[in-house]
Amino acid sequence: MNNNKIFLCAINNIESGGCSEDCKFCTQSSRYQTDIEKYKNKSFEQILNDAKFLNEKGALGFCLVTAGKGLNDRKLKYVSQIAEKLKKELPDLNLIACNGTASVEQLRVLKNSGISSYNHNLESAESFYNEICTTHTWRERYETCENVKNVGLNLCTGGIVGLGENDEVREEFFNEILSLEPNSIPINFYHHNEALPIPKTDLTINKGLEIIKNLRNKFNGRIMIAGGRESFFGENDWQIFQAGANSIVIGNYLTTKGISADHDLNVLKKLNLKIAKSCQ
Ligand code: SF4
Repeated sequence: MNNNKIFLCAINNIESGGCSEDCKFCTQSSRYQTDIEKYKNKSFEQILNDAKFLNEKGALGFCLVTAGKGLNDRKLKYVSQIAEKLKKELPDLNLIACNGTASVEQLRVLKNSGISSYNHNLESAESFYNEICTTHTWRERYETCENVKNVGLNLCTGGIVGLGENDEVREEFFNEILSLEPNSIPINFYHHNEALPIPKTDLTINKGLEIIKNLRNKFNGRIMIAGGRESFFGENDWQIFQAGANSIVIGNYLTTKGISADHDLNVLKKLNLKIAKSCQ
C-alpha cells in the first residue's frame, strides 16, 4: 500500500431514516426526533448521476447505503438491482454495499450483482457497545463481518469515536477491528445533533489526530476518515493525512452535507498528495 496516495470514496444514502434500532449516535434511528430527510428507494437515475459526478472527481469506490438493522428480501433485491445497473454504466467503479446485518447467502447475492466490498462497522468496542445501542448486540455485527470474509468480499469495518469512550475502550475497539483483518477501516468522528442522547464530544482536535496516529501504528492498510471530518477537524482537516489517514469520503455524508469535492481536491493538491487511481 502506497501511503503517499490518497484513496477517495463516496457514499450514497439510497434509503434514509426510519430505522427501528436505538443507536444513540445515529440520526437515522426513528427513536429520536431528528430533522433528516427520510425516503425509500432512491431512483436509479439519481444514484447514477451522483455516482458519475463523484467518479469524475476521482472517487474509486461508491457505497450504496441503506438505513435499518439489516437486509431483508425487498432491500436485497433493490440493492442488487441498483448494483447490476450501475456496473453496466460504470464498469470501473468499485461498488460497496452497506446494508447492516447480512447472512452469507445475502452477501453472495450482492457479490454476484457486482458488489466488491461490504461495509459493516463494529462501531465501538464490545465492552462499550451496550452504552450506545441496546436493540442488537455487538456480536451480531462481528458475525456479519465474518460472513463478509467468508464469501470473499472485501471487508470495510471501523466505527465511530467521540461517544464518551475512553482510551482503553478505543484500544480494545481497534484490536477487535484488526482481528478481522479488514481491507479498509473507516473512522467517523461523532457529529452531535440536538435530538440525539449522546452529548457533544469532549475529544479535542489533537486527541483526534492522536487516535488516527495510534491506529496507523497498528495498521498498514487503508484508514478512511469518514463522517465528522469537516465538523470535527474544521480547517485543520488536512492534518489527518500527516497523522496517517490515507482515504477520505468526498461529497456528502448520509444525513449531513460534506464540503465540496473540489475543495478537497484543492487541499490535496496543495499538500502535494497524489490521488490513487486504483484500489490496489
Ligand atoms: S442500525 Fe444503522 S441505521 Fe439503524 S440506528 Fe443503528 S446505525 Fe442507524
